[in-house]
Amino acid sequence: MAQVYYDKDANLELIKGRRVAVLGYGSQGHAHAQNLRDSGVSVVIGLHETSRSRAKAQADGFEVLSVREAVASADVVMFLMPDHVQADVFRNEVAPFLKKDAALAFAHGFCIHYGQVLPPADRDVFMVAPKGPGHLVRRMFADGKGVPCLIAVYQNASGQAREIGLAYASAIGGGRAGVIETTFAEETETDLFGEQAVLCGGVTELIKAGFDTLVDAGYQPEIAYFECLNELKLIVDMIYEGGFSWMRYSVSDTAKYGDLVAGRKVVDEYTREAMEELLKRVQDGSFAQDWIAENLCGRPRMRAWMRAEKNHPIEAVGKSLRTMMPWMEAKEAPEN
Ligand code: NAD
Ligand code: MG
Ligand code: MG
Ligand code: MG
Ligand code: MG
Ligand code: MG
Repeated sequence: MAQVYYDKDANLELIKGRRVAVLGYGSQGHAHAQNLRDSGVSVVIGLHETSRSRAKAQADGFEVLSVREAVASADVVMFLMPDHVQADVFRNEVAPFLKKDAALAFAHGFCIHYGQVLPPADRDVFMVAPKGPGHLVRRMFADGKGVPCLIAVYQNASGQAREIGLAYASAIGGGRAGVIETTFAEETETDLFGEQAVLCGGVTELIKAGFDTLVDAGYQPEIAYFECLNELKLIVDMIYEGGFSWMRYSVSDTAKYGDLVAGRKVVDEYTREAMEELLKRVQDGSFAQDWIAENLCGRPRMRAWMRAEKNHPIEAVGKSLRTMMPWMEAKEAPEN
């Protein structure tokens, strides 16, 4: 079983006595910065000169500096910019300006685990990763609650890295919910595997395969959309709140019997082998290498795939059907 820490295990003074530079003021950044400040921690925001987040951080009452200036003044440097820019920022804006004993902190392990950020050996390096989006991390904290966090230590130069990380996690509200011990490897590999095999890759292909099967058989796309996409939310909400048993308790007996007969025929041995293959590519660094190279050459494959995905008929039918759902704040992704 996992090791779980709570507020009672943390010594907040360890983070209150340190100045934290929060680099990035997006989903996670705004939540970490505000929760830390409310816990009595001295916080400075580091952003590049042209960042659109500058105005927001200033409006929220923070001191906003360039990344270099923020780093030069900080005892803990938390990386909350997109993962694919962290290596460059570390090399050019962080490493040369780091105070002697400053610790490096991350909310995701990718750059450290795959060697994109190579921290000096005499630094503490830890992770505090909330298991929820920033707006929830902020809202729960303001309500006196918290979002569970992961904590991991990559380098413990001071002998206090875990304790400082735990104090940080507690200061953003994680200790109210529970802080689970993990490693950079486990957090990174499971995160990548989950989004590929299940959450993003697996789910979208499953939806498309179901939709295409119905439409190819002559059923109307509108009806296929409801059955294979729209209703997924109801099912996921039930699973989220009470597991498979609550979902199966809640749906009709016909749906339950169909679920048990058919699911394993769709997600079969072949699918499980494909998942093992994905996991191997995550573990041996092939996926990371592929993604880093894709970024270096301007994302040509990603752009082509995104164009094709955008043109799938399920997107057009969905867009028009969502206008019939007045309870929903329908969203549209910007062009990219
Ligand atoms: P985001 O895209 O919401 O925000 C990124 C911020 O970084 C913006 O303020 C942007 O202006 C700033 N930024 C961009 N380039 C920069 C640069 N060169 N220098 C300085 N700042 C720059 O990002 P996010 O979703 O909050 O993710 C931040 C980190 O948190 C990532 O490591 C991510 O994996 C991790 N994380 C995210 C979530 C989540 O739910 N979003 C959850 C857990 C962990
Ligand atoms: Mg994840
Ligand atoms: Mg991820
Ligand atoms: Mg993530
Ligand atoms: Mg139905
Ligand atoms: Mg039914």
